[in-house]
Order: sequence, then structure tokens, then C-alpha cells
Amino acid sequence: LGEFDLIARYFTPGAYAPDVLLGVGDDAAVLEVPAGYRLVAAVDTIIAGIHFPIDTTAANIAYRALAVNLSDLAAMGAQPRWFTLSLCMPDANEAWIAEFARSLQELAAHYRVQLVGGDTVKGPLNISVQILGLVEADGWLTRRGAQAGDVVVVSGVPGEAAGGLQLLQSATTSVSALHQQALLERFYRPTPRVELGRKIRSLASAAMDISDGLLTDLRKLCHASSCGALLNLESLPASPALLATFGAAQAEQFALQGGDDYELLFTVAPQRWVQVQAAAADLAIICTPIGRMVAGQQIQCFRQGIPVVVQDNGYDHFANSGRSHAL
Ligand code: ADP
Ligand code: MG
Repeated sequence: LGEFDLIARYFTPGAYAPDVLLGVGDDAAVLEVPAGYRLVAAVDTIIAGIHFPIDTTAANIAYRALAVNLSDLAAMGAQPRWFTLSLCMPDANEAWIAEFARSLQELAAHYRVQLVGGDTVKGPLNISVQILGLVEADGWLTRRGAQAGDVVVVSGVPGEAAGGLQLLQSATTSVSALHQQALLERFYRPTPRVELGRKIRSLASAAMDISDGLLTDLRKLCHASSCGALLNLESLPASPALLATFGAAQAEQFALQGGDDYELLFTVAPQRWVQVQAAAADLAIICTPIGRMVAGQQIQCFRQGIPVVVQDNGYDHFANSGRSHAL
């Protein structure tokens, strides 16, 4: 199967929405940005053995490649519209490509994003997706706008993805099949919080998605907003699967330091919190207040009101210490 046939068969969508003036098949795509909107762009690359275990299925790799990009746009409050795909693989295994393409199109259809171009090359397995979306010209979310007094909120249940990864990496015995399944699902299939991002676009003061760990990422938000934060550890959303599998102490550590959650971490002025609650309830997404922004630049953790020291060990590709190992 040649490169041309492969692209024609697996990566050429049957039809485009009218905002795609030119899609796959030419030298570049041409896209229509409606008046009153801004173009939002992000790119994320995932590499076998670093971002996913090498035995991950083609379907899960495709899901992840697109989902992590959707999550970046969610964190901006933007509506994802289009994406391009750079696919680097060691060989053209048609069964693998078919499964990859099916999974990719399934997720793309669900979020109504359109594949408008890409690149197909031979080399070590890595997948790069560039995503493009739209946001109303009157405002988008950034990491910068948090103020002292704002409530710190997290969506979903952070830590479960890290628990799933831990299960993959070590032979943990006597785990209930149900819990194991739930945790693996969170690792392989994070839910991009696109709808939530859209709803909080005009409510949140700052937002980001959690990819490297809640504490590490909160530090980035604090830095960008020139604020500190207080975190109440007992407020972290509890995961029955994490608790049953790893116990309370490790569950908390996963929640604070585990990566790969792709939940939203955002701040909101106290008087807007009820509106956020209503939006979250509409979408049936748990949103939990876990702390407050404060003046200064420290993040201070409390357990039942008592200050505790938590080491911050989030993911950093180029760190000498901390978590930067390959899978
Ligand atoms: P060029 O040599 O001009 O870069 P290519 O031969 O690489 O073009 O690609 C031909 C067309 O197929 C282009 O429109 C490109 O965007 C698209 N394309 C290539 N690979 C992929 C892919 N994996 N997914 C989607 N579109 C792709
Ligand atoms: Mg060309």
C-alpha cells in the first residue's frame, strides 16, 4: 500500500462542512474563519514509549493523539473545528492503519472536528496532531487571569489516569476487574472537556488542562497569574477505584502528582461559583472546589486545616530530577 493510496483510503474524509474550502489532497488546507471569531491553534506530539506504552492499540493511540489536542482547546474555551495529522510510523501495516483511522474518525465525528491535511512519513512511531478552533472575539480563557480570592476548581477525578498507568507498569495483584478497567480507561481514553470549556469561557478567570499533574500545572497557572494558592487536600474528589486499589495515601499522591488526566483546572470569582456549578450539572461533569487563590507565589496544602508539605514531582521531559522516565 503506497503513501498516496493510504492517504486516499484512510485519511480523506468523505465530506466536509462548508467552512473547509479546501481539505486533504492539495498542498495546504484553506479554512473559513467566521466574522467575530478568532483562530485558536495548538499542537501536541505523542511518542511511543514516552507518552504511551509501546503495546498500546492503534485505536487508543489515535484517540489519545486527538484527545490531548481537543483538551488544549477546551482549556482556552474554544470550539475545535479542524485538525491536521502528522503520522510517523515504522511500516505501513494496513490493519494497524485501518484501526487507527477508524478510531481517529470516531472521536473526530463526536467532537465535529475535521481532518484537513497532514503528513505521512516513515520512522519511529510518533503522532503529531495540530488542532485549530474558534473562539468568540470577545474573550477566551488563559492561565493569566486568576486573582486572590478566586476559587480553585478541578473537573472530574484527577489521579485515575496515573493509577491506570501504574497498573500497566507493575503487576499489582488482587485488583478488582471493574476498578482496573475503570483506571485503565481513564489513562487510555481521557475525556476532553470541550463542552465544559465552552461553558466556563465567560465565567472562569483562568484555566488550563492538567497534563503533567495537578500540583505542577497549578504552579504554572499561579505563576502566569502572579498568585499563590491554598489547597485543601480533603476536598480533592475521591476515586473509589483508586482508593480500593492503592489506598488513601497513594490515591492522594496520584491526584496531586499524576499526569495524563486532561481535566480542566480553573479559577472563578466566588460570586460566579453557582453559575459554574449549574453549568457542570447541565453537562453531568463533576466540578470540585479544591482551594483558593491567594496573594504571593506559594502553593500551600492543608489537611483538615493543618498545613502539610507535599512534594511536587510532576512530569518534565527535560528534568534531571523528578519524573521524566520513559514508559
Ligand atoms: P506534500 O508533498 O505537498 O506535502 P503530501 O504528498 O505529503 O503533500 O500529502 C498529500 C495530501 O495529503 C496533502 O493534502 C496532505 O495534507 C494530505 N495528507 C498527507 N498525510 C496525511 C495524513 N496522515 N492525514 C491527513 N492528510 C494527510
Ligand atoms: Mg506540496
